[in-house]
Amino acid sequence: MSDYLAPSMAKDHPNLPVVKEEGCYYYGADGKTYLDFTSGIAVANTGHRHPKVVQAIKDGADSLMHGPSGVIMYDSILKLAERLQGIMPENLDCFFFANSGTEAIEGAMKLAKYVTKRPYVISFTGCFHGRSLGALGVSTSKSKYRKFLQPNGLTYQIPYADVAGCPEGESVADYCVNELEKDFERLFDHQVTPEEVACVILEPVLGEGGYLIPPKEWLQKVREICDRHGMLLIFDEVQTGFGRTGDWFAAQTFDVTPDIMAIAKGIASGMPLSATVASKELMSQWPMGTHGTTFGGNPIACSAALATLDVIEEEKLLANSREMGAYALEKLALIKEKHHVIGDVRGVGLMIGIEIVDPQTGAPDGNGMMRILDLALEKGVLFYLCGKHQEVIRMIPPLIIEKEQIDEGLRIFEEAVM
Ligand code: PLP
Repeated sequence: MSDYLAPSMAKDHPNLPVVKEEGCYYYGADGKTYLDFTSGIAVANTGHRHPKVVQAIKDGADSLMHGPSGVIMYDSILKLAERLQGIMPENLDCFFFANSGTEAIEGAMKLAKYVTKRPYVISFTGCFHGRSLGALGVSTSKSKYRKFLQPNGLTYQIPYADVAGCPEGESVADYCVNELEKDFERLFDHQVTPEEVACVILEPVLGEGGYLIPPKEWLQKVREICDRHGMLLIFDEVQTGFGRTGDWFAAQTFDVTPDIMAIAKGIASGMPLSATVASKELMSQWPMGTHGTTFGGNPIACSAALATLDVIEEEKLLANSREMGAYALEKLALIKEKHHVIGDVRGVGLMIGIEIVDPQTGAPDGNGMMRILDLALEKGVLFYLCGKHQEVIRMIPPLIIEKEQIDEGLRIFEEAVM
C-alpha cells in the first residue's frame, strides 16, 4: 500500500487489490476472480462496467467533460432530471445534482432549514448519512468518529425501529409504532419543542447500522408525526435507491413519500453523481447561492445515469432484485438451520443482512463475522460488513445477478461458516 495514501483512505477491510471489474466479478491483482456480493457498496446495480454505461461515458466524453451547471447548460442533465421525475414518488420532481451521497444529504438538511426556518434535526440511532461535518453530525453509527463534532448540538436522536425487541405474542408493527410515539413524546417533553425542528432524517432501511428493516407502519407513523408538527421528512435513499429494495426507491416499497430525498450510489453505476430531490415548491424556497458545486451534475455522469436507467428498465432489474432476493433468503434460511453461528437473516430485494452470533450465547459476534468474511474472500466471494458490533454480513450483489451465481456465492459462504 502506498505511503502517500492517507491511512483513513486505505485502512478499511478488506482492501482487495483489483485490476479489473466486469459484471458481477472483480479480477484481483493475485490473478484470482472474485464474485462481488458488495456491488462496490450498492453502486454497481447494473453490474460493473455494463457495456451500455461504458459506451454512454465514451460518447459523453467525445462532446462535453465538464459543466459547470448553472454556468452552461447541457442536454444530459436536462434529460436526466426529466427521466428521474418519471420514476420518483409523486411530488418529488425537482433536482439539485451533486457528486456524492454526503453532499446530497447536506443539501437536504440545508433545504429543510431554509424552508422551515427552524434549527434542529432529528435522526435515528444506528444511522449513517455521510462524513461531512453536517452529515456526520447527525450520524450515530459512526459515533466513535463524532467525538469532536458534538458541539454541533443541533441534532437529537431517537431509537430506530426495534423489531427484535418486540415481546412475544405482540404485533411487531404495533410495538414499533407505540415505541416511536413514546420516544417522540419524551423528546418533545424534555429536550426540544417540535416547532424548533426543521426535519426528521432517516434511512428507510438502516444500512451501516445493520440492515434493519422497519415495519411499513413505523415509517408511516414517522410521516404522520412530521405532518402533525410541520417538520419535513427526509429519506436518505443513498443506499436503498435504484432497485436495491426491488423498487426504484424504498419510498415505493414502503409506500411512504418523504418531503425531501437524497439519492446517489447506484444512480450512475460508478460515476460520481447524486441529487437532493424535493417538490418545485420547496426547491423554490432555497435561496440562490446558498448551495452550489463546481462538479455536481457532471455531463458524463449524467449520461452514465441515463444509460443506467435504461439498463435497469430494459433488463427488468427491479423484478430480478425481488426474485433473486427472495431466492437468496430461502437458501439462507436452509443454511441457517444447519449453522448456529447464523442469527437473524433479513432482507428486502437484494439488500440482505446476515447476522453472525456466538452459538452458545446468541450474542453478536464481530470477530466471528470477520473470520467468515476473510474465509469467504479467500475462497472467492467478496462480502462486506455492517452493524452496531460489525456483526452483520451484508449481501448486496449487482441486480443482474443470476441464480447460479447466488448458488455459488452461498455455497462458499456456507463453507466459510463451517
Ligand atoms: N447515506 C447512506 C445511507 C450511505 O450508505 C452513505 C455511504 O455509504 C452515505 C449517505 C454517504 O454517501 P457518500 O459516501 O457517497 O458520500
